[in-house]
Amino acid sequence: MKRLLTIDDDSHFFGLIISAIATPISFSCQHARTFASFKEMLTEDVSVIMVDLMMPGMDGIEVLRFLSEQQCRAGILLFSGADRKTLLVAEEMARELRLRVLGRLSKPLVRGDLEAFLRQADDVLPVQRSVAASAAGPVVTADALRRAITQRELVVHYQPQITMATGEPSGVEALVRWQHPEHGLIYPDSFIPLAESMGVIEDLTWRVVEQVFEDEQLFAGRGWAPQLSINISAYSLCDLKLPDRLFASAQAARISPDRLIVEITESGTIQKVAQALDILARLRLRGIHLSIDDFGTGFSMMHQLKRIPASEIKIDRGFVAAMETDHSAEVIVRKTTEIGHELRMKVVAEGVETQMQYQLLKKLNCDIAQGYLFARPMSLNALLAWRECSLVKTA
Ligand code: C2E
Ligand code: CA
Ligand code: CA
Repeated sequence: MKRLLTIDDDSHFFGLIISAIATPISFSCQHARTFASFKEMLTEDVSVIMVDLMMPGMDGIEVLRFLSEQQCRAGILLFSGADRKTLLVAEEMARELRLRVLGRLSKPLVRGDLEAFLRQADDVLPVQRSVAASAAGPVVTADALRRAITQRELVVHYQPQITMATGEPSGVEALVRWQHPEHGLIYPDSFIPLAESMGVIEDLTWRVVEQVFEDEQLFAGRGWAPQLSINISAYSLCDLKLPDRLFASAQAARISPDRLIVEITESGTIQKVAQALDILARLRLRGIHLSIDDFGTGFSMMHQLKRIPASEIKIDRGFVAAMETDHSAEVIVRKTTEIGHELRMKVVAEGVETQMQYQLLKKLNCDIAQGYLFARPMSLNALLAWRECSLVKTA
């Protein structure tokens, strides 16, 4: 029997209704009315979790964040008495948090809809973790990560960014991977959160910066001087030495600071806001550019625009992916681009996968596109070969 866990502050009567629907199709059901009891009931064998988004005194979004932190692999069903749009936004956010969303349901529940989703659960539910996560499971420990940093097991891959006006690759984003001697390539989502919580994120960042600056010499050797985008964790925005250190390292490598773009994401995790803004302002004063990553997924994005001296925004790939079918996503991309331009910022669209998205983004006046349509992130050598090929094609 599969387990269905519901978190909802409604009466027990609601729990009984869900049981009445789900038990005949082989689910054993539990109903938590508080976050604390939900946490107790949540074990690895739960197959489906139903989350009410509107719970007075409890926040459905907080529940989703918690599930994401736990790397929960259960199917998630969102439900709420709120309007369709709120549900849609929550669904998008849950997907961004890498939760396995089965669908959304409005209250009052319709028996047939819930049944249909629960029956679907079987098809989409590998109870096991993803390959990367399971490979990473036993090896991603703080010690292993520290060793990986010092022993140069971290490698940097690059994804090109295309300037739409010329069709040429004008920049690259550096994305870290862990080339594990036994477990192969491990992706950052499996170790960045650990690096952040174990206090090794700074060492990791500097290892990446060092590698990028070393690799830059090879770009230069081919007569190419792309913009270099580097991801900096919000946790590093309390290191007051960051601006000077980055500037000095760039100078030592003879790289002009205005070729550097520091990508920052999710202001929600920035604890010392005044300090973070100080660091960001000093980076900018040193001539280094700032980019607001995953724009549109944070909670106070307009606020961020006002206070961060950024020269670029990166529209989150969720909006780009939805643009062709969801009118509101298209409106968001268009309006974000307009706002970005009014504020004299460049606008980058992430996650461009189709020609249609690319053409639409061109029409909406986006400046730069990045995504699988052009190239996946790749090793330095692959990137250099890719660029030579793209030069031949455009010649
Ligand atoms: P991000 O900064 O949003 O990076 C973009 C992610 O989207 C990358 O995943 C990239 O491979 C993926 N991507 C690019 N184009 C497409 C596309 O067309 N479709 C889809 N579906 N995905 C696309 P990746 O490399 O797994 O990195 C995940 C995240 O890990 C990054 O998200 C970034 O937040 C973090 N990260 C990566 N490198 C570093 C680093 O050196 N330092 C820090 N602090 N974080 C890093
Ligand atoms: Ca990024
Ligand atoms: Ca991003």
